[in-house]
This record gives sequence, C-alpha cells and structure tokens, in this order.
Amino acid sequence: MPNPSAEKNILENFYENRATILYHETYHFDSTVVQPNTRDYANGPQSIWDQAKLKGAYWSYVTPDSYGCAALSIYIQEWFRSVFPPVPRKVYQAQSGFISSSSTTEADLYPPVNFSTVLPASFVAPSNPDIPNATPDASLWTEFRGTSPPEAPSSTATATQVSATSTCKIHVDEYELCGAESSDLFANVSMANGNGDTIGETAINYTYPLGMPINVGDTYSFQPRLGLAIMITGEHEGDYIQFTQGDLSWTSNTTTGVVSCTDGGWEPKDGPVCGREYGDTDAKKQIDCWVRC
Ligand SMILES: [Zn+2]
Repeated sequence: MPNPSAEKNILENFYENRATILYHETYHFDSTVVQPNTRDYANGPQSIWDQAKLKGAYWSYVTPDSYGCAALSIYIQEWFRSVFPPVPRKVYQAQSGFISSSSTTEADLYPPVNFSTVLPASFVAPSNPDIPNATPDASLWTEFRGTSPPEAPSSTATATQVSATSTCKIHVDEYELCGAESSDLFANVSMANGNGDTIGETAINYTYPLGMPINVGDTYSFQPRLGLAIMITGEHEGDYIQFTQGDLSWTSNTTTGVVSCTDGGWEPKDGPVCGREYGDTDAKKQIDCWVRC
C-alpha cells in the first residue's frame, strides 16, 4: 500500500524534473562557482549525500548536483510544509524504519558513480570552502553588462590605514518592527576608519531590507574588512545593544573607557506604532560608537 505522506520525505521521488536539470546545468557554467567549471563528481541524491558526508564541503561546492539537490529539497519541504527537508531514500528508511514502495531507485536514476579521487590539476583547493579561489572571467561580465567589471577594492590601501592606531566609528541604524519581541530588532551597520573611509557595512538584501536581525539567540556577526567580527545583539530589557569584539565587550550605553557610544533614542519615542488601519510604523534609533582600531 503506497504511503504518500512518507514518500514525500524521499528526495529520489522528485529528482527527475526539468527545473532541477536546468539548475544543475547552470551551475556548470564557467565562473559561476569556480574557473574551470564545476564537474559531476557525484550525481543523484544518495551520491551527493555520500559525497558531502565522506569527502566534505569543498567537493559539494564544486559539484553542480549538490546545488540541484539542495534547491529541490528546500522546494519540496516548502511545498509540503514538512518539518524536515526530504533526504535520500536509504537515509530516510534507516532513520524512520519506513520501507518505500516507490519503484524509483538510485540505480534507475544513474548507474553507479565512480568518484574521481583527485580534482583536475588546475584546481587550487581553498583553505576555506566559503572563500572561492576563482579568478573571474572578466569577459563574461562585459558580455552580460556591456561594461568593464568594477575594480576590486584595494586591500593594501585599507591595511595601511587600519594598521595606524586610530579611532573607528561604528554607526548603527537600529529598527524595531511590529511583531514578537524575540524577532523584531534589526540593524543596518557601517564602520569607518579615522579617515572616514568605510571599512565595512551591512549588505542590505531583499529578505532584510532594514538590516540584519540582532535578536537574542540570533546575534548579528558584523564583519569589517579587517579585524575581528563584531557580535551585535539587541536587548529589550533595558533597551540597549550589546557589542562584543574578541575580548572587548560594550553596550550602546557605554560612554567611558576604550569605547564610547551615543544613543539618539527611538523615533517615534515610544517605539513602533502597530495595528493601525493604514499599516504599522517602524521605530528607528541611531547609535554611534567610537572604538580604537
Ligand atoms: Zn552535470
């Protein structure tokens, strides 16, 4: 007897479709991930799972089907509103004791994959898989955008400026939205060196148009271009922001010592105005801190 509610946890049941194939092939393009392009070191849910588990993040990073399987798994989870994303059949069966009655197996999808044990000689393995070592192909940018690519920021110029002991300024636009106190604080942060040059800023994106969440349990790790990350957490109790950078710790109320801050207060002064007919009004406050850097 088929069991659809259990079968939806099995990734192989959804794997063969045009969207996944198109997504996979897109990740093969030169310079999308690395140059030279990614290769099919593994294919299919189980092989991709095994590769990630046994060979690590770097191999997933250079294998297009990792992206295809991850995207499909997220999509299926959202579609069915499942508690967990779907996983390969053997993994799910081992975890749940469920025996799938679906006939599609890994062997049907693909013949057994021979993992390559060495990457092409032209790859240089990065020490950190989050930092690609690709040398972007400038002609691609020119082809897509019709202009030359922008200059990469000069790291040597910034290094010289920051190595001199000076005072850096951290500016925080903090927002309080209408919503649960556990998830309603956001911060758009920028940091400038003694010359006023920006040395770090929050990347605003579609998901977080007002800045990153800074809630208890969801601390924002703000990374300046040089130096240690600054951990930023908003506290409702006492209404302050907690900052931690390495051994150094201070709050938006700190006014003496190696760090001093000013807190401009909330606008509107009683916080966000919620539940009105024409929509909610967010509250904003501006904080500046001067730190040695
Ligand atoms: Zn491929």
